[in-house]
Amino acid sequence: MEDFATLLKGSAESHGHLCPGQVVGVRMAILGCRLLGLDDPKAPDQIKKIIIYVEIDRCATDAIAYVTGVKLGRRSLKFMDYGIMAATFVNLETGKAYRVVSTEESRDLCISYAPEVMEKVQQQLEAYKRMPDSVLFRVQEVRVPIGEYDLPGPTRHKAICARCGQVVRDQREVIVEDVPVCQPCARGAYFSPVREITLPDMNWSPSSRGIQYMEESVSDPAGYRRVEWIR
Ligand SMILES: [Zn+2]
Ligand SMILES: [Zn+2]
Repeated sequence: MEDFATLLKGSAESHGHLCPGQVVGVRMAILGCRLLGLDDPKAPDQIKKIIIYVEIDRCATDAIAYVTGVKLGRRSLKFMDYGIMAATFVNLETGKAYRVVSTEESRDLCISYAPEVMEKVQQQLEAYKRMPDSVLFRVQEVRVPIGEYDLPGPTRHKAICARCGQVVRDQREVIVEDVPVCQPCARGAYFSPVREITLPDMNWSPSSRGIQYMEESVSDPAGYRRVEWIR
């Protein structure tokens, strides 16, 4: 694993800015990997051993993903929407799991660790670099039962929603009156309402040749941007 300064620089670049969350996240990831006995989590022989559950979708989460290489699309990054600055590091090989929680005290102690820095964010940045892990974090040894449908690897199960016909992968369907139903149909969704639409440029594909994008586009009466493609 690279050293802290190098990881922090790369993490800030990838995240888009250097913020206190990057410092906390990078340190959380380093500690998590150390607890799991992984010294190079992105290496081919280690990348398949680690799964991380993050409990918040804020700055530190990007740093954790950057340092460890876990990804939502590889199923090695799991998002539990708890609103808590914490992450659980699981070693699939050993079954060991540690939940690392960022302490509230660490926020109040910034002034003691970087008293010479006046500006608040700069003070946090500096203080979080100086605090020992024991001040910055609480660590809990936990057990994380991971079901076979949550593991990386090929899709193990498919169902067809009895109401809308959508294929649902990885046993995310809900059984309603003995038939499989997708979650939007069963419980309502984050989106509404549903209206199928056709866009004028839906015949485009990245391999279309000799097509130029015309700057000017017009809005159709429904407000959808219509894009004109010309040869
Ligand atoms: Zn940030
Ligand atoms: Zn459905």
